[in-house]
Amino acid sequence: MRISYSAFDTYTKCPLKYKFQYIDYIKVPEKPEFFFGSLIHLVVQMALRRDPIIPPISDLIKFYESKWREDIFPDKLTADQYLDSGRQMITKFHEDYKPGLRKVIASEKRFQIPLENHILSGVIDRVDKLPFGAYEIVDYKTSKSLPSQEDVDNDKQLATYAIAVQTLWPEARDVRLTLHYLKHGQLLTTSRTSEQIEQMKFALVETANKIQTAKNFRPRENQFCDWCDYKHLCPKKMNNVSESMNIETKEIDILVKDYISCYKKIADITPQLQTHFDQEKIDKFETKLGTITRDHQRNFWVE
Ligand code: SF4
Repeated sequence: MRISYSAFDTYTKCPLKYKFQYIDYIKVPEKPEFFFGSLIHLVVQMALRRDPIIPPISDLIKFYESKWREDIFPDKLTADQYLDSGRQMITKFHEDYKPGLRKVIASEKRFQIPLENHILSGVIDRVDKLPFGAYEIVDYKTSKSLPSQEDVDNDKQLATYAIAVQTLWPEARDVRLTLHYLKHGQLLTTSRTSEQIEQMKFALVETANKIQTAKNFRPRENQFCDWCDYKHLCPKKMNNVSESMNIETKEIDILVKDYISCYKKIADITPQLQTHFDQEKIDKFETKLGTITRDHQRNFWVE
């Protein structure tokens, strides 16, 4: 099967969330911070395209502003704060950019590499070749807070990137792993031993095997539940489902049948609703039972 670091991390934290996201492909509204992070990555990618010549800052800001979407944000004030923060990050990135003798050999590098009987896939923001033969992976971060060096030394995503780089460039023995925090202009660098890389490979393969043979994807509550996009579908979080419900009982059969039947009905009704909303040029319909709203990605939500 195909596994990415993100899928591995999601399954490790909560198998049910993994199922919602990677098996059922349940769509969720786009989050402002994801839109923002992706756009900043796009600007950086544009900047690195002609390394070592970097475009003027005015071109980068113009490009950034041309891709801006205010509708993603809950209100104008928040949108403006993000917009300004992005301008500052890009400006800092531009000021600090010193190619020196290093060479950018890849940016936004997509990889799909064999890992035992699975495929490890992902995207690396940037790979540099250093003058003395070492390789450096750079992962750009737009978050506000900085991690500790200990967190960076234990970051599993960086270990996954090291596996990818050593497979794509087999001559890469000395691989540096750097997180570049754009807001602070700070670089945090680490590396992994061969043993740590083998441990990470083992963990990825073991998790992929588990997913492949899993019969149940149970919810696993964790510190990130509050930010989970699937809380409304989660038996651990839904108000009307008891915490103590034993999902091994026959009740689960009834629940699943009901769920599938509702799901199919929604799939049948949705095109007619879309047509009606399009014809009437509306994104909201209120009734005594509740309100249906349609977001910018044309998903319906019931309140
Ligand atoms: S709310 Fe928590 S337990 Fe429920 S699916 Fe999300 S991560 Fe899993």
